Amino acid sequence: MNASVDKKALKLLAKYSSISQSYSRSIRPLEPHEQRWIDLRGFSTDEEFEYLKEQGLAFDSLDMEHDAAVQKCFEYAKQCKKPHVTDLFLSSFTAERLDFRSGFAPFAIMQTMPEHGFTKSSAPGYCAICSAAAVYTDMDPTDWNVDRYKYGSIGLLKVPYVIQFHLAQYLQLAQQKPTVNDFRIFNAILDILQSVDAKTKPKDLHKHLKRIEGFKATNDQCRVLVEALGIASILETEEHKGYLTRYINPGLAPSKSHSSDWAYPVDFWTGADGVNRKALAFWFGDYPEIRL
Ligand SMILES: [Zn+2]
Repeated sequence: MNASVDKKALKLLAKYSSISQSYSRSIRPLEPHEQRWIDLRGFSTDEEFEYLKEQGLAFDSLDMEHDAAVQKCFEYAKQCKKPHVTDLFLSSFTAERLDFRSGFAPFAIMQTMPEHGFTKSSAPGYCAICSAAAVYTDMDPTDWNVDRYKYGSIGLLKVPYVIQFHLAQYLQLAQQKPTVNDFRIFNAILDILQSVDAKTKPKDLHKHLKRIEGFKATNDQCRVLVEALGIASILETEEHKGYLTRYINPGLAPSKSHSSDWAYPVDFWTGADGVNRKALAFWFGDYPEIRL
């Protein structure tokens, strides 16, 4: 699943949803809202799921324990090399492979995630350090693979179960060489992030970024890209830092307002905060093509 990914398989993956699968397997009659979901979204047949598995895009559900997930995170993060991660990230701009971009945020979280065992919290069954459940039963990594290919980043849940999956998949991707256009697009993104009006909020960025020639991103794809830059500390604020310098429990990270669902810390970012050059240099300082 490296140089090219089967187009048919990608289409099938795009419509995959854990929720659809569980409704479709239900032995009791579906509730009206469940039936509506299936009518609208459809579901993957056994045959389609097998095909996705053959293509390396779908996985059987499994059970995993917290400590095993943390251990895998550290094992995989150690094998991931920073230039491999950043080369893939940059190549994603023109390769039309969002999965190339997807390992950046999980790898950034691993810069400061503490190696730890399950630690009791006031929420029974959930870890005080990372918010992961003590045991994840019937974990469905295929759903997370949809996020990789459709959006290019880690989803809402930033716990070790998901991070280890992203890193394991990332390790299977061959090294890429970013092209002149990849560098041009990333430089243009940085220029915009540094020059937008001080009041600009993350949700306003798409309308600026989509004007970059050759940068194809939907609103959602743009959002996860901006969120990843936050997690990597490139877009952070004085008070709300990314994961490069300190780890914050993703389940307890503050949000700017009750209604905001942007990831921490970019949720707090405005144009006035600009780009953290130190973090930018940490990640991309070895590329003379990138204007720091
Ligand atoms: Zn934990």
